[in-house]
Amino acid sequence: MGAPDSDAILKATAERAGRCAFFFDFDGTLAPIQDDPESVYPAPGIIDTLAQVSQRLGKVVIVSARPAGFLRQRFSDLPDVAVFGLYGLEVQRAGGPVETDPSAAPFVHVMRDLADRARAELPAGTLVEYKRISVAVHYRTAPQLGPEVEQWAKERANELGLRLQSGRMVLELKPPGQRDKGSVLREETEGLSCAWYFGDDVADLRAFAALDARAEADPDFLAVRVAVANAESGQALIEAADLHVDGPEDVPALLERLLAQTP
Ligand SMILES: [Mg+2]
Repeated sequence: MGAPDSDAILKATAERAGRCAFFFDFDGTLAPIQDDPESVYPAPGIIDTLAQVSQRLGKVVIVSARPAGFLRQRFSDLPDVAVFGLYGLEVQRAGGPVETDPSAAPFVHVMRDLADRARAELPAGTLVEYKRISVAVHYRTAPQLGPEVEQWAKERANELGLRLQSGRMVLELKPPGQRDKGSVLREETEGLSCAWYFGDDVADLRAFAALDARAEADPDFLAVRVAVANAESGQALIEAADLHVDGPEDVPALLERLLAQTP
């Protein structure tokens, strides 16, 4: 736990119970990172704790680089939780279908071809993850390939007019639209008086910034940034956060402290 005033934050949040939203990144935040992205699952206790949070404190929203279908499968025990996939380009709300942002639809064929090309052109040791409207290239099991993969990804981004986003041992090629975690945060906090955002990566700093902007526009709004941070995610995220925990395994304990204060 980072900030000395964490008790005050918990108390202020509990006072706003029912008017809050809790946003969570997935990989590295709710689920320990694995070499194989397909074998990543929520840490023990996460599902039960999120069920409690959504019943007693406010809505729970997952916002991740993963496809919405993958996230729904991992959170199948929490059908009321909205899952935003591909940084908000896809959403699946309670009981509804997966909806694709119209700005991303023209890129379906571009990404399919790009994934084929990545598999053909990148060296052994890279792992290509095809996500229908984006392509991620992982090099976690071969970190020495980072510069080569980055060069390839930069060239493809320029050639095809795509956005390039880097994460923890992964580079992701995305459609050029402005949809991102920040826009999800802005939309999903409308009419609320408090939001928490949990993230583990430098990419999550943008979501922190969106939360800052939301709070600046509304002095009564309580914004809480939580870094699920470690040596790999680095100091920048911890410094930008109000609270921090050391890993996904420690997220339930923080939320339990909050629930204990909630009437
Ligand atoms: Mg993450």
